[in-house]
Amino acid sequence: MDVAGLAQIKSDSPPHATAQALAGGTWLMSEPTAAKPTWIDLAGRGWDDVTDDGKHLALGAMISLSALPDHLARWPEASRLARAALAATAASSKVLCQATLGGNLGLALPFGVMNPLMTLWEARIEVQRGTGISPRHLAATALQTGDQTTALAADELVRRVHLAPDSMRGRGAVQHLRLNAASPPTLSVWVWQTDAAPERVRVVVSAGTPSPQTVLARSADEAAAGLSGIPFLTDNLGPAEYRRGILPVLLRRAWAQLESART
Ligand SMILES: Cc1cc2nc3c(=O)[nH]c(=O)nc-3n(C[C@H](O)[C@H](O)[C@H](O)COP(=O)(O)OP(=O)(O)OC[C@H]3O[C@@H](n4cnc5c(N)ncnc54)[C@H](O)[C@@H]3O)c2cc1C
Repeated sequence: MDVAGLAQIKSDSPPHATAQALAGGTWLMSEPTAAKPTWIDLAGRGWDDVTDDGKHLALGAMISLSALPDHLARWPEASRLARAALAATAASSKVLCQATLGGNLGLALPFGVMNPLMTLWEARIEVQRGTGISPRHLAATALQTGDQTTALAADELVRRVHLAPDSMRGRGAVQHLRLNAASPPTLSVWVWQTDAAPERVRVVVSAGTPSPQTVLARSADEAAAGLSGIPFLTDNLGPAEYRRGILPVLLRRAWAQLESART
């Protein structure tokens, strides 16, 4: 734990330029805190609420990542994909029990798993603004704007994620390229085919890109063409050109995995 720069913890105010939200703390407590020395503790706000009225599912920002597959139980394929996504993170089960949905979305790491999953399922993000201001909503695809950057203003927080049954009924697959079993993915490709519109598959590329990139496609080749202009990262996990070159391979593998899930 690195909390040397921490000045104070509050619970009742919105975040701002020098104060950031404390959710599960799995990232905040492992990083230097000097840039934002005040933490706004979200525990105790009741933000681990889950509403399922049969028409849509709303997941509070403070649910733990490890609980997500169970909350998706009425869509077994979505639940299975969420479980597979969590199993492939670099986080231990201890971290996953503590880490939250909102923290993962708000942290917006390129190799984070919640922004691509929620983009895949076309979730809507409910954003809590300053005190007394009504919430706003945005498409999941619009939340993460880059490597650890989001569309949230300094006083805004992810409050809930809304999922619609038509987007969740279907089947999916994910393919990762990793340097070794312990490293985060160099590139990830996610695909999701709904029962409602099976002819078009939602494709999301993450990890090797600053933010999730998405396209609808009928084949791996069509997806590769649609994604040909996306930006790739160059970092210690690989150069951009390598990631660009490997994308069609992961797309074909993901499509094959999807086909085998259908049979
Ligand atoms: C050993 C280890 C391995 C890890 N591996 C992975 C991995 O493979 N993939 C991955 O994605 N992450 C990984 N992480 C990073 C991190 O733990 C997770 O992303 C986690 O989901 C963060 O959630 P949290 O609730 O702990 O957030 P916190 O640590 O509390 O906060 C993280 C950031 O999110 C912001 N935030 C918190 N709640 C909200 C909200 N409701 N709205 C907006 N912003 C908010 C905070 O202000 C902060 O900037 C790892 C961490 C550790 C320690």
